[in-house]
Amino acid sequence: MFCPFCRHPDSRVVDSRTSDDGLSIRRRRQCPECGRRFSTTETASLNIIKRSGVVEPFSREKIVSGVRKACQGRPVTDSDLAMLAQKVEETIRQTGASQVDANDIGLAILPPLRDLDEVAYLRFASVYQGFDSLDDFETAITQLRTEHTNRSQTRTTEDAPSVGTAPTANQP
Ligand SMILES: [Zn+2]
Repeated sequence: MFCPFCRHPDSRVVDSRTSDDGLSIRRRRQCPECGRRFSTTETASLNIIKRSGVVEPFSREKIVSGVRKACQGRPVTDSDLAMLAQKVEETIRQTGASQVDANDIGLAILPPLRDLDEVAYLRFASVYQGFDSLDDFETAITQLRTEHTNRSQTRTTEDAPSVGTAPTANQP
């Protein structure tokens, strides 16, 4: 875009910052001609290609309604679902793609749903990944168990109290 001050047709990006919700990028630009700085905000368009080939704009509401079914009877609130939909949108947008397969949306839903509620996760995964036998459930459950183990190991390390830098008695 033109420099808003001198209309020079080029500018250099000096800083890029993603907004807190991850949905837009603010760029600080500098004009090489007059040296003045200005900001631009960039928001990506995002479309979903459904299995039928139909393209439709990404919608958090659709994510929520899709996941809500799997959460029936589970201690999951509307705001949990809204947070999940936001995370999914952030994940998808971070790929930088302007068109995303419906399949990738499903994949992006799985990790935050697993963190939210494992039963809902299993239900969603069973439909989305087309589980057709007990073995499929067993594999998924084994994976969850393995991750539990890994996670608690990681947590132990992270939560370990840092070694204090206690003042020593024999200071000069
Ligand atoms: Zn300029």
